[in-house]
Amino acid sequence: MLKKVLLIVIIIVYSCEKSSNSIIADIVITNARVYTLSWDDPSLDGIPAQNAPYENGVWQPDAEAIAIKDRLIQFVGTNDEIQNYIGENTKIIDANNALVVPGLIESHGHVQEIGEKEEAVNLLNLSAKDIIDVIYKRSLEIPEGEWIVGSGWDEAVFANDYPDMLELSAKVPNHPVVLNGLRGFGAMGNQLAFEKAGITNKTEATDGGEILKDDNGNLIYVLLNQAKNLLNNKVPEKSFEQKSRMMMYGLDELKSLGFTTAHHAGVIGKHMEVYEDLQSKDQLPIRIQAFVAARMFNIDLVNKWLEKGPTTNDTSFLQVKTFKAYYDGSLGSRGANFIEDYSDMPGQKGVSSTDYGFHPDLIKKAMDAGFQLAIHAIGDKGNRDVLDFYENYFKENPQSKALRHRIEHAQIVHPDDFKRFGELNIVASVEPGHAVEDMPWAIDRVGEERAKGGYAWRTLRKNNVTVIFNADYTGTDPSFFYGAYCAITKQKKDDDKQWFPEQTFTPEETLRAYTIWAAYASKQEHLTGTIEKGKWADLTFMDMDVLNVGNTNPNQLLNGQILKTMVNGKVVYEK
Ligand SMILES: [Zn+2]
Repeated sequence: MLKKVLLIVIIIVYSCEKSSNSIIADIVITNARVYTLSWDDPSLDGIPAQNAPYENGVWQPDAEAIAIKDRLIQFVGTNDEIQNYIGENTKIIDANNALVVPGLIESHGHVQEIGEKEEAVNLLNLSAKDIIDVIYKRSLEIPEGEWIVGSGWDEAVFANDYPDMLELSAKVPNHPVVLNGLRGFGAMGNQLAFEKAGITNKTEATDGGEILKDDNGNLIYVLLNQAKNLLNNKVPEKSFEQKSRMMMYGLDELKSLGFTTAHHAGVIGKHMEVYEDLQSKDQLPIRIQAFVAARMFNIDLVNKWLEKGPTTNDTSFLQVKTFKAYYDGSLGSRGANFIEDYSDMPGQKGVSSTDYGFHPDLIKKAMDAGFQLAIHAIGDKGNRDVLDFYENYFKENPQSKALRHRIEHAQIVHPDDFKRFGELNIVASVEPGHAVEDMPWAIDRVGEERAKGGYAWRTLRKNNVTVIFNADYTGTDPSFFYGAYCAITKQKKDDDKQWFPEQTFTPEETLRAYTIWAAYASKQEHLTGTIEKGKWADLTFMDMDVLNVGNTNPNQLLNGQILKTMVNGKVVYEK
């Protein structure tokens, strides 16, 4: 008898202790309008699942409160239910009716470029004449001999008629000048910069590039594709502090835009050093998936990671599990590779493969070592070849298919190839901003018929493909609200023309492409991407109900604002 009583007492004491210790949260969020995204995926046509909180065309947030313990989501429910989790030391965050969604994931961008652009001369939307004026003015402000680096001229706009670099050379003779294109596919410079870089009209372009010359074989001081590195590699190195500062600038910008994870597509040695330093000091404000650039000039970093293998500790803020490779050029500069000629330039099909710095053996080694691949492909031939490459590799290595390899941009896909993305388990990583910004000239490049396979995310979805969204910043605006607006409307800002409306995404699909589907692309769907018990406390607070506004008044999306960003249970940004 005594034994029995003792046992009961022990059980009671044990369970009391359990409730007092383990149920009390570190942080509780109340008065929120939460979309957990924990319901099923919509149909391939975008129709919300049976169990979605959606009725008569209206979305209803499916929770009000979230408890967080040990940096993980502990409980999701109502304001009443959450009271049980509040103890003396629980920090309470009153969300004040904000919309709370799973932490946003930006799945393809170039973090340091945000800082570099901030410090560089901005050429965005300038005319050829204004470009020369701006550089001239800058040359009056800084000591002779110091490099002037500008960026943002649009390769597509100037593809037929580049600004006169001879005029620039005459006006700015004593400062080396490098002017990088908006999309990373071209660079221009003045005479002094070309001299310092040792580029003459005899220099051969390597690794898939072009040095443009006039009819007499003289330099016009314009470099296309990989030839831009001949000039950019000669710009004096920034100090470690400068590089760190630029990376932090980018990370701070991303956290203020609500991103809790960013995929950095193409990290080279000097950037990895910065990341490793920030990681060792616990100073990364958001999580980073660093994709190692599979470039010959980056071979030291490539070899280091081939040896090390992919990151195995999921909780590390710095993840290196992916290699980035480059198959063809861009559409704007007519470098993307097509099966047939460009519609606006007969005889031109673009450049790809080994001509473009694609190194199949190196990439196979990375895949052998267990890395995911993210391969840039834009033209229909580029996409087809990359699908062939994956297919052939999987024949020998079927287990690699489970790594969810990616194609970056997947811009123009041949009608026969959409189903292959699904069959090969390839994730399509695409840019809503480009889809509307490129459209006017994209149709010139490829014609109406091929354009139907352009930015065709609905067709990809219908073929069971995971589609993830990003901005390839600084190519376009990384704002989630801007991306969502473009994906849902397929319209430019302040423009009624809708480009291929049959390819738009629903607001729910858009939010998933920035959260759970992007988490899936990194094999982290069990850790993040929805708001569910046991997942990381990565949350984004905003002032707009994007699911309903996206349905009823998508123009309003452009006014949305991020209010708070929480990473790993810590508020890293607050408006
Ligand atoms: Zn990119």
